[in-house]
Amino acid sequence: MSQSSEFDVLFEPVPIGPVTARNRFFQVPHCTGLGHANPKAEAALRGVKAEGGWAVVCTQEVEIHPSSEISPYLEGRLWDDKDIPAHAAMTDAVHEHGSLAGIELAHNGLHATNLYSRVPPMGPSDRPVDLYHPVQARAMNLNDIKSFKQWHVDAAKRSRTAGYDIVYVYAGHNMSTLQHFLLTRFNDRSDAYGGSIENRMRLLKETLSDVRDAVGGDCAVALRLAVDELLGDQGLQAQDEGAEIVSKLADIPDLWDVNVSGWDNDSATARFEEEGYQEPYTAFVKKLVNKPVVGVGRFTSPSAMVSQVKRGVLDFIGAARPSIADPFLPNKIRDGELSSIRECIGCNICVSCDNIIAPIRCTQNPTMGEEWKRNWHPERSDQTDKPEQTLVIGAGPAGLECALQLSRHGYPVMLAEATREVGGRLLGESSLPGLSSYRRVRDYRQQQLQVAPNVELLLDNSLSSQDVLDTGIRRVFIATGSRWCTSGLGRQHPRGLKFSDKCMPVFTPESLYDGTAVNGHVLVYDDDHYYLGGVVAEELVRRGCSVTLVTPANCVSVWTENTLEQHKIQSRLIKLGVSIVTSQEISLVDKEHVELACVYSGNNKKLIADALMLVTSRVPDNGLYNELTEHQKSFDTLSLVGDALAPSTVAAAVYSGHLAARSLYTDEDSNLFIREMALVGN
Ligand code: ADP
Ligand code: SF4
Repeated sequence: MSQSSEFDVLFEPVPIGPVTARNRFFQVPHCTGLGHANPKAEAALRGVKAEGGWAVVCTQEVEIHPSSEISPYLEGRLWDDKDIPAHAAMTDAVHEHGSLAGIELAHNGLHATNLYSRVPPMGPSDRPVDLYHPVQARAMNLNDIKSFKQWHVDAAKRSRTAGYDIVYVYAGHNMSTLQHFLLTRFNDRSDAYGGSIENRMRLLKETLSDVRDAVGGDCAVALRLAVDELLGDQGLQAQDEGAEIVSKLADIPDLWDVNVSGWDNDSATARFEEEGYQEPYTAFVKKLVNKPVVGVGRFTSPSAMVSQVKRGVLDFIGAARPSIADPFLPNKIRDGELSSIRECIGCNICVSCDNIIAPIRCTQNPTMGEEWKRNWHPERSDQTDKPEQTLVIGAGPAGLECALQLSRHGYPVMLAEATREVGGRLLGESSLPGLSSYRRVRDYRQQQLQVAPNVELLLDNSLSSQDVLDTGIRRVFIATGSRWCTSGLGRQHPRGLKFSDKCMPVFTPESLYDGTAVNGHVLVYDDDHYYLGGVVAEELVRRGCSVTLVTPANCVSVWTENTLEQHKIQSRLIKLGVSIVTSQEISLVDKEHVELACVYSGNNKKLIADALMLVTSRVPDNGLYNELTEHQKSFDTLSLVGDALAPSTVAAAVYSGHLAARSLYTDEDSNLFIREMALVGN
């Protein structure tokens, strides 16, 4: 072990009540989209984190009772003893590597829809649930409150039986009954559980104490508390009631896990917040309590972590996303392998999976969520005993990852890239506002490929089909990417747009990277609905254009609701002076104006503009592949990967490249994986 003394402080053991963490790396609770339906996958995922050096590895939120469940979303579940074995699988996987397992007990109050149990949700007062469901939660009576505490006690005891070392009581993210009781806008009770701050925190205090009485000797009891809602005086504030709650409960939990709420603030993307962004709100906690404190801030830089500990801000470096992007981050710091850290880019693709009810995936770490399903490990790859020469064409995210994974399996790799720099779409996109972290996807792979002994990189080499055939290489992977479409073809216009003979200049996002001048009043037409339409609008403002963003959707960048960014994006664009026109499609592009039609009524209107910027769909660059398919006999593998196969997210391109390389090694159909089966029985 080549431990660097600079980081020694991160590897000190820290006691948490009756248990001790072996270092300061703490994987705080985070969702995976696996949950109670995929316990084996969940256990394997958490086990890899423990193997990678995280001293504490927690579950996602775990529903403790049918009176509060958020189906169809897949969280953990611990309703009765039958759920215990699924949790024991997780604790076993974590303990196997000497780490502590933590469980976050959750009752979601006004955030629960109870679509499975069909029990009316409950909360401090009568209120609609926070999702757009036609459902109201009912105010809890004193019997409900008594039951609520008992459900926590029962769940805590089951947690202990399942082998958990840390049991969380949860009051965060605006998703917890206990937090809803704290907040005056949700709690207008006139009994002992409403009114003064003492009364509003009574249920939290009683629940914490009951859980502690039930399992405290064996398990550490943690409190996850949102100490500031970032709503100013419209919500809970750190310097006001946040601090009051912390000081009044200071001695009850064994561990304080503190953050900001809602989830969009806690899991802010790199587009909106820098590393360590929660410190101004949470730093006060350590001054008020004598128990260890964990907090998050998308920490990926070891020196920032050391600084948090040395300055007395945090005792534990909490991480969800950095532990997803690199489950081996602690071990890499311990071993001085800093350049091999796969830094989280803060894109929230992982978060989106919970929101779209899909198993977790990560832009940087293609093995995330595939540990059990495909038996993929983020750091280990079996070596081939048939090290045939491979050729990868195109060094965007798909080609880079494909080349890297091939080299890890021991295949000699020739990686050819048409331009003078590797990175593909990442190069242009990372130059746009808020997207600089996307370059990390390139940087990590470039660095790893540079030190790989079996990779030859050919830059400035645009290969033709004859060039490929001339190499004589029989294992070929084509990752030639895609271009933004100039016809406006997209979801709203499956045949493209109608252009008049002398129409205004039409651009695509690539025009922003290749030096083309884009001036005047630009109409950005976003029929893509992810981040780029909004980012392009922002960039055009930065370049001095006046910008109108038109979209057939009801709001800007609508898919970013899943990455918790939509609200922030729209509000930023409005503040930048971008004029936003929603629910409109383009019916004609003319010389000096664009005709719009309302997607509901068909009513027309005209917008004067100097230029049109189309962000609608992409055209796969698969010409080289199509030519080579005429010569199938020259190849044992001819594989089209990434955007050249089907344009999608950067995460999908990385995954596609990784899968293609693994499939060569396993010599199996890439569609093969194992799946979890529901047990028939009681
Ligand atoms: P993906 O997201 O699938 O990785 P990108 O568009 O980001 O796709 O990257 C594709 C890369 O392939 C670009 O860097 C491009 O320059 C390169 N490329 C395209 N055609 C060729 C070719 N014929 N020879 C070598 N490189 C190519
Ligand atoms: Fe980070 Fe993006 Fe991976 Fe999530 S998906 S861990 S935000 S790189």
